[in-house]
Amino acid sequence: MAETSTSSGGRPALPMQGVPQPSREEVMNLPRVHISSHPVMKHKITALRDKRTPPPEFYQLVKEIGALLAYEATENLALEMHTIETPMATMRSERLAGGIGVTPILRAGLGLAEGFRQVIPDVQVWHLGLRRDEHTLEAMEYYNQLPHKVDLQVCYAVDPMLATGGSAIDAINVLKRRGIPRLCYMGIIAAPYGLLKLAQTHPDIDIYIAALDDSLNDVGYIVPGLGDAGDRQFGTF
Ligand code: URA
Repeated sequence: MAETSTSSGGRPALPMQGVPQPSREEVMNLPRVHISSHPVMKHKITALRDKRTPPPEFYQLVKEIGALLAYEATENLALEMHTIETPMATMRSERLAGGIGVTPILRAGLGLAEGFRQVIPDVQVWHLGLRRDEHTLEAMEYYNQLPHKVDLQVCYAVDPMLATGGSAIDAINVLKRRGIPRLCYMGIIAAPYGLLKLAQTHPDIDIYIAALDDSLNDVGYIVPGLGDAGDRQFGTF
């Protein structure tokens, strides 16, 4: 019988080894999952995936993809009528009804949040630090800078890589406790495994991603993916 390698604590050293994973086809038509089909997005993701793309360019691309994704992910925001004066006349015109929140999951979510702010500069940015235990792949909260007063119509948890889904699920759990009327997740690349887990655990949220990849490797990295999105943004190899 094949031996399963374990860490010193007796846990599996390769947390995804032997774990069944759904295929792309099984998850690509899930309700409330939006996968971008825009050619400019695809072009930028190819450059992002390329291992020769250096950190400054990588970070810039994450911001640009964050702005493009934000534009797609805000298509259903609520509007309200507002009276303004143009240089020519008084008119009633629409503006966003209520605040918009963005919660970057630290640290890899920072570039996406920055891109989001380029589309809606007055978003509230709520930082949330979640770290993956590399043996269990479970998310642990280490930093939480969420305000006490909530006046948002929607909040977007943003993290580039939806791998096992652990951090995304936990971030949405944290945000749900704040009583925000609508929650969404926004990420760049998803693995079918994490996408299915997030969609099943939180069927009431919209999930916006730019690409759906094949699978997770034994240690929970997305394949073909782009490597470690945090290290590649901040040059910490
Ligand atoms: N986090 C990353 O940065 N990359 C992966 O492939 C999975 C999780």
